[in-house]
Amino acid sequence: MRQLTPSATGVIQAAAHQMRKNGIEVFNFGTGDPILPNHPVILEFAERAIVEKMSPYAPFAGMTELRQAAADWMNRRYGSQFGIKETVVSCGGKFGIYAALQILLAQGEEVLVPAPYWVSYPEMVRLANGQPIILSAEETTNWKITPSEMLSRITPKTRVLLLNNACNPTGVLYTRQEISEILNVAKEANLMVISDEVYSEIVFDNAEFVSCSSFPEHRSRVIVIESCSKNFAMAGWRVGFAFGPAEVITNIIALQSQSTSGTSLISQQAALGALRHADEVSSYVRQAMDRRRKLFFQTYNQLFQTRIQPILSTLYYFAPIGKDSMKECEKILTEAHVALVPGIGFGVEGYVRFAFSEEEDLIEKGLKALQKFKRGLPYC
Ligand code: GLU
Repeated sequence: MRQLTPSATGVIQAAAHQMRKNGIEVFNFGTGDPILPNHPVILEFAERAIVEKMSPYAPFAGMTELRQAAADWMNRRYGSQFGIKETVVSCGGKFGIYAALQILLAQGEEVLVPAPYWVSYPEMVRLANGQPIILSAEETTNWKITPSEMLSRITPKTRVLLLNNACNPTGVLYTRQEISEILNVAKEANLMVISDEVYSEIVFDNAEFVSCSSFPEHRSRVIVIESCSKNFAMAGWRVGFAFGPAEVITNIIALQSQSTSGTSLISQQAALGALRHADEVSSYVRQAMDRRRKLFFQTYNQLFQTRIQPILSTLYYFAPIGKDSMKECEKILTEAHVALVPGIGFGVEGYVRFAFSEEEDLIEKGLKALQKFKRGLPYC
């Protein structure tokens, strides 16, 4: 039997769920999931699909109207030129990344993965028989990788760069100049780039989000992963997208036809509702998450000695914890009933990730529970 490592966010989420089932109040800073009522247009489209008894298999590539609406959404925001052939609907952005790696990698090929990385990347690379090559970014350089670091790790076996912008867990946004330099290195080394951009609409204080799809000269090597989970607060509906060269997308569709058969038709209708009103729905989510972000950072600065700056994107704050992050998170969960994700899950020991996507009162109560639990930790 193969031994797989489960997702670190999934492990914490399951432990927190179990505690809640046992009647314990758990303060969830674990999984990043914008806990919000669905925007009415999402429900309207989903309800219509249910009333009209739409339950056949969906096309493996996703509904044509949804692929077109998703491509239009990208093209309108970034000036890209995706058509239906360059667009596939997947079971969340997660399956899009998994599928792209399966399609691109041959046995033993290497994937550059900047750390901190989203918890699932290295295992997904291994599942595709590839080799993750971790590029470590530091807090002192704002957690960003540089072209020179990339160059120093490229070998004849390197095939893909797996970039995450905005970055989960640090919330860091790459600038246009930085992305351009990274893409130029990828071009020189003939790498494909999978750009995970699932927080593209969760950007605050008018900060600029730069998509890898806004560089036409790199069109042939870029696969962009998008999702409804965060941008439209639809995590449980499981709708994401991959955009890229038609030959890659065709193979992802074939992979879906041999595995998931695509995502639920009702979910796809719900996503169509969100995309038809994309600006309205994403602004509804952004405003709610901005309120939580402000509350989180203000409360944190009031309660703890360390002064921290609000992040500009995503739903996270990556905080130093100074010791074995897994043990510390287990202890904090069992004793303070506060769910955090250990930094080691993101490839960086000595840190923890807070998600501030829960309801407001839980954010305040959770931080207070943490302060009461231990004043001696570096973040306290
Ligand atoms: N992206 C979310 C997080 O990092 C969801 C986790 C998941 O799907 O594993 O918390």
